[in-house]
Amino acid sequence: MMDRLNIIVAGGGITGVSTAEWLRRDGHDVTLIDRIPPGDSGQTSYGNAGILARCAVVPVPVPGVWKKAPKMLFDPNGPLFLRWSYLPKLLPWLIPYLRNGRRDKVEAIAEALMPLVGDTLEQHQALAKGTPAERWINTGDYSYFYPDRAAFQDDAFGFALRKAHGFEWEERDRDTLLEIDPHIGPAYGFAATFNGYGWIGDPGRYVADLAAWFEGQGGRMRQAEISEILPLEGGRAAVIADGERIEADRVVIATGAWSARLARALGHEPALETERGYHLWLRGPSIRPPHPYMLADAKFLATPMEAGLRCAGLVEFGGLDAPASDAPIELFKRQVRKLYPTLTWESEDTWLGHRPSTIDSLPLIGPSPKAPGVVFAFGAQHLGLTMGPKTGRLVADMIGGRNPNIDMTPYKVGRFDN
Ligand SMILES: Cc1cc2nc3c(=O)[nH]c(=O)nc-3n(C[C@H](O)[C@H](O)[C@H](O)COP(=O)(O)OP(=O)(O)OC[C@H]3O[C@@H](n4cnc5c(N)ncnc54)[C@H](O)[C@@H]3O)c2cc1C
Repeated sequence: MMDRLNIIVAGGGITGVSTAEWLRRDGHDVTLIDRIPPGDSGQTSYGNAGILARCAVVPVPVPGVWKKAPKMLFDPNGPLFLRWSYLPKLLPWLIPYLRNGRRDKVEAIAEALMPLVGDTLEQHQALAKGTPAERWINTGDYSYFYPDRAAFQDDAFGFALRKAHGFEWEERDRDTLLEIDPHIGPAYGFAATFNGYGWIGDPGRYVADLAAWFEGQGGRMRQAEISEILPLEGGRAAVIADGERIEADRVVIATGAWSARLARALGHEPALETERGYHLWLRGPSIRPPHPYMLADAKFLATPMEAGLRCAGLVEFGGLDAPASDAPIELFKRQVRKLYPTLTWESEDTWLGHRPSTIDSLPLIGPSPKAPGVVFAFGAQHLGLTMGPKTGRLVADMIGGRNPNIDMTPYKVGRFDN
């Protein structure tokens, strides 16, 4: 029988909640600590596009990104934004990040992403089964929208990589698209559609429901700011939470884009940056897509959600503390009207979130070689909702001494250390 350990999970987004729940199911005594309630809009897990992106093996930097990035930055309709004052801080991360867009590196990254994303729907179903969170999981198609076939062919590298990993798609011309969704405007004439996808109808409420289930089944929750994590003798660790020292057999760091400071204090370089992203949530829309659409030219998603239509995506570099910008929201409005020229809505919410992104687009999962009682679980970039439940299982396997049955080397903690 597995030893019953006393475990603290720091961070209650999808990664932390999934990890806490799988550890609880293993019989451990688990405390989840976050400075805000799980499902709160301050989490990245609240405002994402909701996609369980099973074929997302293609990282953002791909061959040719060096040429495309400046154009995206200066085009007022481009999906990339930069707060220029942040550039000096960003460069040490940005240069190696872009260098990882080399073909051989991207192929290796895709290989390592596959075990984390390929079975995402099954992983979410297994986590949520029998809990109130189950109701938020939708299944159906997922389409990449392009102005025309030529624009789709510009993305041939990414689609070839998906195919190499066993993913097939259906190509739809404008007539076929209009049969399925007659509201689509003339700006879009081609789509590549994958089936067997999943999406979450309200990611914030999904996380809140999972956390409530965890607590209802005997897990402990505590609202506090963790200022420090301390390695202890015997492979144990402690946290300082709102000034109070709490010891545990293991501490899991699942604090998303805010993890760098805690990791550095343990002597690790996490190579982590926030890729800021936005959403525009249209309540009471006159039109909803039948399934999520990725507007490939605009780099954002239009996802049908329980409470309306959510446009989510884009990338802005500017750090964790700068306020939200207006330009991304204006871009959503212009582009969603290109998708649906007759769209109207009753009210809207806007949101800024922080993707936790490493220079090799892979998370850090596993024990710290410098502090063995501390386990890392962050860095899931654009795919944290997709990977959360699987990450939780892998952490529970590692803590429980079970073989995770996948090669964990690509996610190794310490791989960016000097
Ligand atoms: C616009 C946008 C769209 C996206 N769309 C998708 C998508 O469709 N599919 C997908 O898979 N992913 C998507 N993502 C990415 C995904 O949302 C993130 O990767 C994921 O939410 C990260 O989850 P997390 O649990 O690691 O971090 P978070 O959800 O950010 O949670 C971290 C938690 O740690 C807490 N915390 C931090 N520091 C401390 C501290 N010192 N003490 C106490 N608590 C602390 C925070 O309060 C927070 O609650 C999107 C992201 C954005 C921005």
